[in-house]
Amino acid sequence: MINFKKARERMVETQLIARGISDPKVLEAMRKVPRHLFVDEALQDQAYNDHPLPISDKQTISQPYVVALMTESLKFTGQEKVLEIGTGSGYQAAVLAELAGRVFSIERHPGLALRANQVLRDLGYRNVIIRVGDGSMGWPDDAPFDAVMVTAGTPEVPQPLVDQLAVGGRLIVPVGDRLGQDLVLVQRRPEGITKTNMGGVRFVDLVGKWGWKE
Ligand code: SAM
Repeated sequence: MINFKKARERMVETQLIARGISDPKVLEAMRKVPRHLFVDEALQDQAYNDHPLPISDKQTISQPYVVALMTESLKFTGQEKVLEIGTGSGYQAAVLAELAGRVFSIERHPGLALRANQVLRDLGYRNVIIRVGDGSMGWPDDAPFDAVMVTAGTPEVPQPLVDQLAVGGRLIVPVGDRLGQDLVLVQRRPEGITKTNMGGVRFVDLVGKWGWKE
């Protein structure tokens, strides 16, 4: 029987702290959220390994380090309204829910959204709301957002997501071709938009109006 708490602690030490993740709140959230409950039972023994894992609909739950890196880049202070594109398993949404005030998450596959919603409810997360749809268009009804995270790769930064950023807001998005992307941090400052390259990643496709065509 695997000791999942110990596995999480080892993951935080060897995969996150060792690679430079240092925000104590991010490390605490990654120590707390039971990642193994977001994957199929048959894969639970691999949940804290240093790689992504398959979920249904040919999608993936991202590598723990990438989850931590993207989360840290958004610099949460606790009250933010955050939008996630690509709910997938719901794991990243749970990490965001530990750090922000409210989480709005969009998934294009209804089955994934349903399962993620159930796991998050069972774990007691009350500050996450999940919607099925094309997240490349954002969530205009509840904009603006203090933080936006896109967990799928796109050929360009979806403009609606930039438009839905609050002043002072931060958006992290993997931009590139289908084989690899750069994590781009977009910040809306009072004086305008800035973009910073945070390094290479490889994500499944963002499929939608402002992403890849199906
Ligand atoms: N954040 C997820 C997690 O913690 O498990 C991992 C996300 S997975 C790498 C990417 C997800 O984005 C997939 O579930 C995929 O179906 C979803 N996706 C792709 N294009 C989308 C779109 N336009 N709108 C919403 N979700 C989308």
